Amino acid sequence: MTVFGCRACGAALTGPVSRVAFPVHARQKWGNGPGSLEPALEPGTFAEDPLPSGTPWRRWEEVDDAEALGWYAPRYGVCGGPPGHVLLAPGEIRNAAIEPALVSEYGCCGLDGNEPNMVCLTCRTPVALRVDDCGLRHAVWLNPLATHVIDDGPGPHPVLDWPDLLDQRPGIPPSEPDGGWHPVWAAAVATALAHLLAASDGHPILLVQQRVADFFQPTLTRLGVPVSTGPPSAEPGRAALRRTGMVLAGPGLPPAAGDLALVPQHPQTGELWPVARPAKPIPLAWDVWSHLAFHRDPRPVGRSVPLLPESLPPLLPGYRLEPDGGIFLSVLARLPQVRQPWLRAIYDRGRPYHYGYCRL
Ligand SMILES: [Zn+2]
Ligand SMILES: [Zn+2]
Repeated sequence: MTVFGCRACGAALTGPVSRVAFPVHARQKWGNGPGSLEPALEPGTFAEDPLPSGTPWRRWEEVDDAEALGWYAPRYGVCGGPPGHVLLAPGEIRNAAIEPALVSEYGCCGLDGNEPNMVCLTCRTPVALRVDDCGLRHAVWLNPLATHVIDDGPGPHPVLDWPDLLDQRPGIPPSEPDGGWHPVWAAAVATALAHLLAASDGHPILLVQQRVADFFQPTLTRLGVPVSTGPPSAEPGRAALRRTGMVLAGPGLPPAAGDLALVPQHPQTGELWPVARPAKPIPLAWDVWSHLAFHRDPRPVGRSVPLLPESLPPLLPGYRLEPDGGIFLSVLARLPQVRQPWLRAIYDRGRPYHYGYCRL
């Protein structure tokens, strides 16, 4: 098991937790309604952000080593804090509490900020940031400069192999009980879209499977990317389309037949389902990939009187999925292909609306 503790005094600050991959929706800002989103992680787990976060914040004009920092397109600013902030659900925290004197002015209805607002109850050192503002996920972020691993091991959740994942983690549906889109879908599709555009090198994109097209085609069309759907055509004139056909690939499916393989990312290890070259992998969060690959809408059976369409509950919201724009742009800005003029033009069209806040 892994336990995190205070660097200053050694006190344990978490219960036993198991490492999982840093999720694409960890820093998602969703809507503007009251209340926070569910934690990004399952109970008993933690994830480490590999990228720098937190203060000091640097204006883009002051950043002269952007590509060395992994940024390939302009941002409003970048975080100059350390990498390795540790994300946990608030229920995993022990022996630490919110210190009112450290609570920042950033929050709207709740807590947010760039600096720790929780202290170790043994030595009063600031160790973590509690976040529960509106539209953000309930979270505690351990500061890597003030905390460290004091006990290490596999923890309460052993790593599942791909077949076990298929059995035990069937994915999440795209819509929520209130009829809206699930925010994890908006984050996962946004991330995959950025990788898809980068991998396409500007060629027209063919979405072979209709259930994939349903979620990707509307946004690609809106972005002005040439896109078509259906099986590859034998017409010679469509050779260019065949070159960039995208199909689902992963455990339980036949080997990828397209040049672009929409593959799952393992939710614990972060590894991608391997595909043979020359196919390029397009990563999709496991919980969304799994649903997309295997879920089939149930058909009413055994009825002598057919159900009228209007008597069936809607399976998807009545409006199209809007991939998360902020996540799309931040993923795209870290892919070197965004330097291609056609892709940079797409990036620049969206950028004014999504500043790169230095949020922890
Ligand atoms: Zn608010
Ligand atoms: Zn301490």
